[in-house]
Amino acid sequence: MNTASFYTEEHEIFREGFRRFVAAEITPHAAEWEEARAVPRSLWRKMGEQGFLCPWLPEEYGGLGLDFAYSVIINEELARGDGFGVGVPLHSDVAVPYIASYGTPEAKERFLPGCTTGEVIAAVGFTEPDAGSDLAAIRTTAVRDGDSYVLNGQKTFITNGAVADVVVVAAKTEPEAGHRGVSLILVDGEAPGFSRGRTLEKMGYHMQDTAELVFEDCRVPAFHLLGEEGRGFKLMMEKLQQERLEVSVKCQTMAEECLKEALEYAKTRTAFGKPIGCHQANAFRLAEMATEVELGRTFLDDLIAAHLRGEEIVQRVSMAKYWLAEMVNRVAYQAVQLHGAYGYMEEYRICRLYRDVRGLPILAGTSEIMKLIISRNLGLR
Ligand SMILES: Cc1cc2nc3c(=O)[nH]c(=O)nc-3n(C[C@H](O)[C@H](O)[C@H](O)COP(=O)(O)OP(=O)(O)OC[C@H]3O[C@@H](n4cnc5c(N)ncnc54)[C@H](O)[C@@H]3O)c2cc1C
Repeated sequence: MNTASFYTEEHEIFREGFRRFVAAEITPHAAEWEEARAVPRSLWRKMGEQGFLCPWLPEEYGGLGLDFAYSVIINEELARGDGFGVGVPLHSDVAVPYIASYGTPEAKERFLPGCTTGEVIAAVGFTEPDAGSDLAAIRTTAVRDGDSYVLNGQKTFITNGAVADVVVVAAKTEPEAGHRGVSLILVDGEAPGFSRGRTLEKMGYHMQDTAELVFEDCRVPAFHLLGEEGRGFKLMMEKLQQERLEVSVKCQTMAEECLKEALEYAKTRTAFGKPIGCHQANAFRLAEMATEVELGRTFLDDLIAAHLRGEEIVQRVSMAKYWLAEMVNRVAYQAVQLHGAYGYMEEYRICRLYRDVRGLPILAGTSEIMKLIISRNLGLR
């Protein structure tokens, strides 16, 4: 149970309701969706009906006007209920905020109501085959042509990419201007010249689709521009704080799940006449894991509280994203080790957790890029 001070009784009631929803609508189907490499669209609509998509959006767009702590609750409970591949946090807390903060009135009107009902699934298309960490090197272009932008290029590793109805795309409106030439433009699923490439086969996160996107003279209305031309990098930097916090929540919750699995197993499996967890080497291993998880929780909750207060926490959120993503991998590794061969078997939950956490130090900015940001803020350039 998370007892952070920013949770009120209303938050806890919401958590209980969402936990029941996950237990009924997600956990029993998780294995089937992992196998199918997809979550059914009906889940999005069910979540929308109950107010679990973008609950922070204002009521005029169908939201509930709730704070970020509700998004944290959804993210945590999805992870606890085996729904850690459901692409909802990416939709609600990463992609849609771009539209809500920087969209033109026409774009907001067109997309936001569907984002709360589940009829519109959103994605973020920044990474390209030749540019991930170095986003200033993207090659996708967007050229203004009358009342439209015409996009050419491709994206890869895009979460929700195979099903997205709207994608926040980073493209160069001024290719020679480096990062100052990057703009953000919305591409809707029906746009002429927009197609999906492969849905990629990943190491983990199997129920989540990760796809390639292709733009061939893809034409979208000019009102799909977010903010101003050439300001895309600045908008990304503004939103990355919440994206990295969202991933940090996942890292921490999954570390707690790994520890839980390891402890339960270590108390029940016996070897040499006693539970394996009572052999001192393993007891100490579990003590170390529990300490790391506790440190992570304290740090994370402090950051969530600061984010809720509207503070700028880029430096500390970069530290959290780096440390928590590495920490959950250390904990997952040790948890599998404690399970012995059972930990290597698909029928054990820890096996899937181990696979799924491996992507966390890579996505949303790698650990190395986080350290780059941290060290620059320490004056090391
Ligand atoms: C599961 C998953 C989901 C994803 N979802 C999305 C999504 O929805 N939208 C999206 O746009 N992208 C998405 N990505 C892509 C992700 O953002 C990129 O993978 C990430 O930014 C790293 O880019 P890259 O893979 O091109 O690696 P590269 O940038 O090529 O880096 C390769 C290695 O070099 C290191 N490196 C790079 N530059 C430096 C440096 N200056 N100093 C030290 N080391 C460096 C990196 O840390 C890494 O270890 C997703 C990735 C994964 C795995």
